[in-house]
Amino acid sequence: MAERERSISTGVADSIERLVALFERFPGIGQRQAQRFVQFLLRASPTLRREFIDALGSLSDSVYQCPSCMRFHAGDKKKCSMCSNPERDTKLLAVVASDADLAALERSGTFRGYYFVLGGTISLASEKTSGLRISQLLKSIPERRGLKEVILAFPANPEGDVTAVHVREKLAPLAKEHDFIITTLGRGLSTGSELEYADPETIKSALDSRR
Ligand SMILES: [Zn+2]
Repeated sequence: MAERERSISTGVADSIERLVALFERFPGIGQRQAQRFVQFLLRASPTLRREFIDALGSLSDSVYQCPSCMRFHAGDKKKCSMCSNPERDTKLLAVVASDADLAALERSGTFRGYYFVLGGTISLASEKTSGLRISQLLKSIPERRGLKEVILAFPANPEGDVTAVHVREKLAPLAKEHDFIITTLGRGLSTGSELEYADPETIKSALDSRR
């Protein structure tokens, strides 16, 4: 009996540790936070836990990457609802680092153009641009009819600045050829602030003061 109890409790401990280890893989999450998430889930209602299981399960079933803006979206395999919306302003394209930054810009309710998700920023340590969708961005430019302005909407930190310089350099010849300007967000955003966590008013003023 004691033997059996031990094996059951080991099993429980293992699944707790496994979940903690999984949460630790999330960006910015340390062991203590991961443990708090798991403690929360242990106390949560079975209904809530089921919701998590369902939502995670459906991520692999019904989420696709939009071939135009590169963001992940739930829907069919084609363009996302934003890219296929003809009401949006074809003159404007915002290049953002991540899906989360795209969502923040969209939440601000001021930007009505199209988006392109670069997939990250250049790391200062490695200065590597691999993994960033720079060539896809460049390739997509000639297909963007009516484009007048590309807004580089990166986080207000050194990585964001370096990325903006690099992307601007790459875009410059195309800007000449296709007659559009390249701007960056104004400093409504305080230095170091992540777009993702900025409030809509701050994003609006950063957009309004772009240059
Ligand atoms: Zn899209």
